[in-house]
Amino acid sequence: MILMEDVYKTYPNGVAALNGINVDIKQGEFVYIVGHSGAGKSTFIKLIYREEKPTKGNIIINEIDLSKLKERKVPYLRREIGVVFQDFKLLPRLTVYENVAYALEVIEETPKGIRTRVMEVLEEVGLKNKARFLPAELSGGEQQRVSIARAIVNRPRIVIADEPTGNLDPETSWGIMKTFEEINDKGTTLIMATHSKEIVNTFKKRVIAIEDGVIVRDEQRGEYGYEV
Ligand code: ADP
Ligand code: ADP
Repeated sequence: MILMEDVYKTYPNGVAALNGINVDIKQGEFVYIVGHSGAGKSTFIKLIYREEKPTKGNIIINEIDLSKLKERKVPYLRREIGVVFQDFKLLPRLTVYENVAYALEVIEETPKGIRTRVMEVLEEVGLKNKARFLPAELSGGEQQRVSIARAIVNRPRIVIADEPTGNLDPETSWGIMKTFEEINDKGTTLIMATHSKEIVNTFKKRVIAIEDGVIVRDEQRGEYGYEV
């Protein structure tokens, strides 16, 4: 599903962000990525959805060897991966409905099919009654739910979240975690980088800890393992 073999990433400025990553994540797993700021978590995540390319090593996503993936095939990979960011990245002039519909890859969908699918995911994240609202008219938690709806609208096999609760209070974060668990329960692989000790130690999952660009810990039902 997600396989990395001896993966290195050095940025053009010479910073070695990842220094030999080996990991195997199966379909349907829920995995936290933890580690100090600058450890390499975001770089690890960006390699999965091909926002960055490795300097060395093999990456296989959904049976696709990324080193052999042609540029024009990248959209097919991206369709299988939904991404959720800390700062939501919603389009401010579009409504909730439009933000989600805009992300929907329209493959042989009728206008009615599109509408049905968008309302279906909005219901899944509890925002069916806010479809007409603009992002600025929503709370932070609601905005993050819109971005989750946008991430899952194409039914990706993998959802990646980079610090999704970083801008949210604990109570709101709890709700977001419940939604991620529901998505994961349906078989979607969930990868989440987080600094939240409370979340990791409460919603027990596999924990992968990265330090200085290497995996220093990989445990099923692991602990956060750092003081704040
Ligand atoms: P984390 O997400 O754990 O905070 P990152 O993957 O963002 O870590 O960063 C790992 C290291 O790579 C850091 O030293 C960071 O400054 C560096 N880095 C990240 N992105 C870039 C980039 N685009 N160009 C150069 N260096 C980068
Ligand atoms: P219900 O049947 O529950 O009233 P609707 O299907 O009529 O729900 O629509 C729910 C919300 O979705 C409405 O607020 C509507 O503004 C919004 N909506 C539906 N289709 C579109 C669209 N094409 N563009 C923007 N908003 C839409």
